[in-house]
Amino acid sequence: MRLSRYFLPILKDAPRDAEIVSHRLMLRAGMMRQEAAGIYAWLPLGFRVLKKIEQIVREEQNRAGAIELLMPTLQLADLWRESGRYDAYGPEMLRIADRHKRELLYGPTNEEMITEIFRAYVKSYRSLPLNLYHIQWKFRDEQRPRFGVMRGREFLMKDAYSFDVDEAAARLSYNRMFVAYLRTFARMGLKAIPMRAETGPIGGDLSHEFIVLAETGESGVFCNRDVLDLPVPGADVDYNGDLTPIIKQWTDLYAATEDVHDAARYEREVPEDKRVQTRGIEVGQIFYFGTKYSDSMKALVSGPDGAEKPIHGGSYGVGVSRLVGAIIEACHDENGIKWPEEVAPFRVAVLNLKQDDATTGEACEKVYNALSAKGVDVLYDDTDQRPGGKFATADLIGIPWQILIGPRGLAEGKVEIKRRSDGSREFMSLDETINRFT
Ligand code: ATP
Ligand code: MG
Ligand code: MG
Ligand code: MG
Repeated sequence: MRLSRYFLPILKDAPRDAEIVSHRLMLRAGMMRQEAAGIYAWLPLGFRVLKKIEQIVREEQNRAGAIELLMPTLQLADLWRESGRYDAYGPEMLRIADRHKRELLYGPTNEEMITEIFRAYVKSYRSLPLNLYHIQWKFRDEQRPRFGVMRGREFLMKDAYSFDVDEAAARLSYNRMFVAYLRTFARMGLKAIPMRAETGPIGGDLSHEFIVLAETGESGVFCNRDVLDLPVPGADVDYNGDLTPIIKQWTDLYAATEDVHDAARYEREVPEDKRVQTRGIEVGQIFYFGTKYSDSMKALVSGPDGAEKPIHGGSYGVGVSRLVGAIIEACHDENGIKWPEEVAPFRVAVLNLKQDDATTGEACEKVYNALSAKGVDVLYDDTDQRPGGKFATADLIGIPWQILIGPRGLAEGKVEIKRRSDGSREFMSLDETINRFT
């Protein structure tokens, strides 16, 4: 992508009403634009990051055996009357009427709809276990939308729903999602700690929130420091095998949100020098809720003995759009964003340091074309900004690798490569540069 032909509306000044750094940086870097309170347009740079995050979530869901589908954003009120949640959900639900005065709602979550789909087709225990997910926009009319995409009203969520024949089987499904979440967040460069959590309006009695520690987070949390250093399972983890050793390792050490915090147990189990009491960002939550929806909505399967029983369910959410903000909270410095490579909007930026110099232009074109041809995401700054402005833009938008090309280096046959994460620099030839990134 040539920056001169791109749409990257960078803001010079920090927007005044943005309270936290990720919100300020997303606005300054031209990633998104607020269209109404808690409702955002994703501009090209932000959209690229959103799609990268979504793809990591998808790959890890698929790896764990979940199956993707897509449900609509609008749902019938009658569906929610079946579970009793139409009235219970309260003012967070956006309620809509169509031209026939039929009552609809913009889905805040999808337990009811997926249960309706499940019960229409699945009749036998032989079809289980089953885990279906989608990545779809949700709407919650939050009391206080704030912090940009972190607490939006319209936001992108991955939500998966598991169906099992009994509680023991449902716990295996829960464990698979637990491990998938460890892998998902680690691949994005995040440390997200599973913490015991309240179940809230989803219901049920077993739940973990995945929390990224951050002072600006909205949840108070307590944990044992050692939980921060636990190993994350590799891509070769066997989802059909026994995952309990992994779950045990991650749940033996104390880690809880303030809603379920047990001060006596915390003091008993966690030595004083290991106690961490801080704040965090909830990037995902998993629930086992048993027969809460299958009872009320009659999602029954017949067992080996022919008798019909309600299925045992769980649901598993990831805040895809919130993650964009959470990653910035974890990865930035005073100059801007430092994207982990896996979610960066572009992997490499090529900076032309002397726009009116023909030799420099040729060298830039050579690198840009060679990398593009090999499928590397490259942003080529071919604008007529001065070098200082180009450095500032590249740092602000957080591209992991900057290739600086100017006449002084080229006279010695070299270009400079700057790594955004630690500011380290290297010099090498054009060909070495091309080989390095392909
Ligand atoms: P919160 O406690 O932040 O209000 P929640 O517990 O209500 O979130 P869940 O129902 O668990 O949210 O939804 C799954 C995930 O969706 C959350 O873990 C979070 O990452 C994301 N999410 C929830 N509400 C929002 C929102 N208003 N804006 C952006 N992401 C959200
Ligand atoms: Mg909420
Ligand atoms: Mg919550
Ligand atoms: Mg939650």
